[in-house]
Amino acid sequence: MTETTIQNFNAKVSLIEWFDIHRRLLPWRKNSNPYAIWLSEIILQQTRVDQGLPYWERFMEAFPNVKALANAPSDQVMALWAGLGYYSRARNLHRSAQQVVNLGDFPRSSSELLLLPGVGPYTAAAIASICFKERCPALDGNALRVYSRFFAIADRIDRSSTIKIIREKAIHLLDEERPGDSNQAIMDLGSRVCTPNQPKCPDCPLKTRCEAYRRGTMASFPVKPAKKAPKSEDWHFQIHQFGKEFALMKRPDSGIWGGLWCFPILEELTPSLAKELQCGHLLSHRKLRLFFHEKTVSHAKIDPALQWFTLKELKNLGLPVPIRWWFEEKNYF
Ligand code: SF4
Repeated sequence: MTETTIQNFNAKVSLIEWFDIHRRLLPWRKNSNPYAIWLSEIILQQTRVDQGLPYWERFMEAFPNVKALANAPSDQVMALWAGLGYYSRARNLHRSAQQVVNLGDFPRSSSELLLLPGVGPYTAAAIASICFKERCPALDGNALRVYSRFFAIADRIDRSSTIKIIREKAIHLLDEERPGDSNQAIMDLGSRVCTPNQPKCPDCPLKTRCEAYRRGTMASFPVKPAKKAPKSEDWHFQIHQFGKEFALMKRPDSGIWGGLWCFPILEELTPSLAKELQCGHLLSHRKLRLFFHEKTVSHAKIDPALQWFTLKELKNLGLPVPIRWWFEEKNYF
């Protein structure tokens, strides 16, 4: 056995032993149900576990299996997703469910899972390893941080060539019998021990073989590109109100708040329009200042693209967080 092989073997065993003691008790880990795992992975793609858990529970309650989700109206899916952001995930989730139902069952290999809408290499590897024991590293941001430190990878982490190198090295740390548990151990390690700032190396099962720890250079990994400042924009919403009914339009499927219901946005502002209420909203690459302009109108006078909703209907509609905020701020919800 070469030194590297021994190093990998020891790290692999330590990782599984650590996972058996320290694993996070998450409801989708109770068994290897691909539907439950897939749903959790899609929800957690851009969301922390504590934020995503209530959404996962609501989805499982409303749609206990993939067929129930596939047959649900898209507005119901979007309404349950509202608040999680990155709404293309919800639309892809719905489309994937329909595709799985057409196929008859979940695909079993990472390469086939990759063909489902919204399933990228990380999600495919996570599902294939956890549910079907395929030995493939699941590389999300947490895992890439752990591996880049463990192997002291000096190349930029956003490059596909770097990810390829990590994938080739990481496969040797996955247990042959329990590759899904090895992947989940890395996920847990990344969120609780090998954290972005001040990793808790003395508590880490990989510490005796971690190259960054040996050199004391944990903060140097992963190597990231320089960050761009978010772009600032002002958006002005026109609120059409008739008694306790409000007119909203559905956002296009692509772009911010895709598929959700929103007040129309004013292209041009007239000086007489008062800035009634204002809030800030930070998206991944944009910093929005949102202004709400109220107007009482009759049903007949508005754009035909708008649709009227009662307050009861609005409560159950998929609304972006700032729109829901406005209704709460005005004591309508
Ligand atoms: S020893 Fe430290 S830097 Fe290395 S993997 Fe563990 S927590 Fe991360």
